[in-house]
Amino acid sequence: MDFKIGVIRGDGIGPEIVGEAVKVLDAAAERFGHKFSYDEILLGGSSIDVHGVPVTDEALAAAKACDAVLMGSIGGDAATSPWYKLEPSKRPEAGLLKMRKALNLFANLRPAYLYNELKAACPVKEEVIGPEGFDMIIVRELTGGLYFGERHTGEVDGVMTAVDTLTYNEEEIRRIALKAFDIAMKRRKKVTSVDKANVLDSSRLWRKVVEDVAKAYPEVTLEHMLVDNCAMQLVNNPSQFDVILTENMFGDILSDEASMITGSIGMLSSASLNDTKFGLYEPSHGSAPDIAGKGIANPLATILSAAMMLRYSLDLDREADAIEGAVKRALEEGYRTVDIAGKGEKTSGTTEIGDIIAGFVRG
Ligand code: NAD
Repeated sequence: MDFKIGVIRGDGIGPEIVGEAVKVLDAAAERFGHKFSYDEILLGGSSIDVHGVPVTDEALAAAKACDAVLMGSIGGDAATSPWYKLEPSKRPEAGLLKMRKALNLFANLRPAYLYNELKAACPVKEEVIGPEGFDMIIVRELTGGLYFGERHTGEVDGVMTAVDTLTYNEEEIRRIALKAFDIAMKRRKKVTSVDKANVLDSSRLWRKVVEDVAKAYPEVTLEHMLVDNCAMQLVNNPSQFDVILTENMFGDILSDEASMITGSIGMLSSASLNDTKFGLYEPSHGSAPDIAGKGIANPLATILSAAMMLRYSLDLDREADAIEGAVKRALEEGYRTVDIAGKGEKTSGTTEIGDIIAGFVRG
């Protein structure tokens, strides 16, 4: 099949890691008989350098016209980069926010998976995690809730008072719940919906709508969990989770907690989706300006983001499995970039890792 993929190489290590992900995608296309064409899109610092703004209308239109977009990280060193002398609305991050908004990316997916070979880096004891490790995905609502509610600060009875509001309507809850259940159908068919329904009205509505959505997915087991309990369970028994579905702020906090227990930020992919199949896929880490151009960046988070793109936007599950399997095999065979290497372990550069994985994908 033919697909058009937008490619945002980004800043810092972005072009290095995206280059390796494209190499791996080409290997998958070759093995499975697809044609991927790439549309290069500028965003962030690289767009400022060329156009004077972090994103142009043309770039937004180009992204919209693709089946999905793969992105490296954007941004630079805030202390030294000239991009940060610009007013906030003209800095690299403003381009990404504008892109997310223009594409209506309301669902943020963050997988947290423990690789057997990287268990030593996991801060949770092996006897707590169990022999199986863990493999979960957090589905976070990204465009509603507390971060987007009305807010104001003022004096009430002579005392400074600040107000933030947490609002969700049933349509916002329904569309993110549908994403979570669709994803669960491609996994172990369990959804844990996380809320604070013992206190918040918005959480009680959340629960009601999620239960309604669940009726259309009889194969999926739904459980509800209070957010404070979920924060404990993540470090106490992480292997119980498959898909965690939650609202914006709870998801922000829980996804960072989940990523920490994997012990390896250079391995974590992410996706932001809208209500079509379209998504923007990027590593969870930043543009690492401190190691840009040195050829040592870990490309695995971006390669795994490309695998997510195949699975969730292009419906190419076999191809995604092949990439994820190749990453696992590379780790099993001892290939490590410096950020995930143990003391005294041999390390490989960015390009070598990309070549190895592309080779494994070709089979
Ligand atoms: P960072 O994630 O870029 O780097 C933190 C540390 O992790 C650094 O030591 C870096 O060398 C290391 N690191 C990160 N990714 C790595 C990889 N793939 N391989 C090996 N080591 C890796 O975070 P930061 O330094 O706080 O931010 C740098 C820039 O990235 C900033 O401009 C920030 O705004 C931007 N940023 C962008 C995104 C995004 O594009 N979505 C996300 C986070 C940060």
